[in-house]
Amino acid sequence: MQNLESMSLDESLAYWRDQPLVGDLMALKEVGWFNPAVAPVAMALGDVGLTLADVEDASARLARFAPYLATVFPETAATQGIIESPVQPVDAMQEALAQRYGIPLPGQMWLKMDSHLPISGSIKARGGIYEVLKHAEDLALSAGLIQLGDNYARLAAPEMRAHFGKHSIAVGSTGNLGLSIGIMSARLGFSVTVHMSADARQWKKDKLRAHGVNVVEYASDYGTAVTEGRRLAQQDPCCHFVDDENSQDLFLGYAVAAFRLKAQFDAEGIAVDAAHPLFVYLPCGVGGGPGGVAFGLKLVFGDAVHCIFAEPTHSPCMLLGVMTGLHEAISVRDFGIDNVTAADGLAVGRPSGFVGRAMQRLIDGYYTVSDEELFALLALMAQTEGINLEPSAVAGVPGIMHVLAPSQEAYRQRGNLAPGQLENALHLVWATGGSMVPAEEMQAYLAKGRRVLDT
Ligand SMILES: *Cc1c(COP(=O)(O)O)cnc(C)c1O
Repeated sequence: MQNLESMSLDESLAYWRDQPLVGDLMALKEVGWFNPAVAPVAMALGDVGLTLADVEDASARLARFAPYLATVFPETAATQGIIESPVQPVDAMQEALAQRYGIPLPGQMWLKMDSHLPISGSIKARGGIYEVLKHAEDLALSAGLIQLGDNYARLAAPEMRAHFGKHSIAVGSTGNLGLSIGIMSARLGFSVTVHMSADARQWKKDKLRAHGVNVVEYASDYGTAVTEGRRLAQQDPCCHFVDDENSQDLFLGYAVAAFRLKAQFDAEGIAVDAAHPLFVYLPCGVGGGPGGVAFGLKLVFGDAVHCIFAEPTHSPCMLLGVMTGLHEAISVRDFGIDNVTAADGLAVGRPSGFVGRAMQRLIDGYYTVSDEELFALLALMAQTEGINLEPSAVAGVPGIMHVLAPSQEAYRQRGNLAPGQLENALHLVWATGGSMVPAEEMQAYLAKGRRVLDT
């Protein structure tokens, strides 16, 4: 092999296009790749540049805002203003999958239902809302409007809203991040603009406009919406741009999920250790959501947790970025892949370089899944468990099959995953969105999925 380091970008692209796995990606085949460069937490956690203290700080900030959230979003009153989702076993789905894949699936499959997070119905209710709250807190503290020990419910007062109204917030999004940032910012009183890529569903734009959010529509993909949104925001000194490709605040907001999951597992009597490994399957778009959650999981569960990212066959940007080491320098289009997928939450062609570099030695593996399979899995989840998810949100479902596939013996050996441990494993599918999909649209998804299942 030539020295990849000394190659120009064009030379490296030519080299990678000739690799068999990349060839399969270019042919839009479903693939699985387990990264041989993964390292133990003790070695690799330092790559991230953030620490446990940073995640604890984010968690404490969310606790400070809880009384405010409980006031302005009554749907969070039951959890005292903490935005959290349930976790539950999905035995019937696991059984159906063993049949579908034709291999035994030992261990227990569970679902983390971020699909049902309050306020915006997706995983973006973690990072997106956190970043808006942090910005609001910074502004209110520096204007002397609140102190750290105050009851933040005061932030709902008209004079607070008037202060936030002098500031604006902007974001580029394929839909769900826009929903979270838009709804939260508008509620606080900010003037907010969401730059929406062509993939964004109409209902998401309608919902935002109903909340008083300024929606700008683009005919091209996510990358353009972000670049353009960032450019416009830079011209306004009072505008905070939520930078999905680079934001540490988003990342930390997602990471808090791991503390909450640990508490939920403790309450269920579920142990996670070397003898009881935890596998977590995370749908990946630009990488901030799954990357942040995975970072938190590594802090909480150490080497006993194995994180695996799922991407659509048409948008495998993080897999390509990490495998080639070229990260945000490349887009799936450099490989002739179109970034057109029904999984709108994952329709990202260029990965976050920040997340790719931070997490490259901490993520066990990556796989791709076709749109057709996403629809089939969505219908199967509805049939077996009565749970409705959006296409992006079922991308984590096939993960268990990749981990247990006979062809992945080398991965399991590397990770010291013996049959005894796999019997005791918990496979957690992170279901990232879906509860706010309008009924009519959900019926169309389900009908499509049933057609795939019947063929
Ligand atoms: C945004 C999103 C993801 C992925 O998060 P990224 O930060 O873009 O990687 C996964 N699922 C859904 C439903 C999403 O909206």
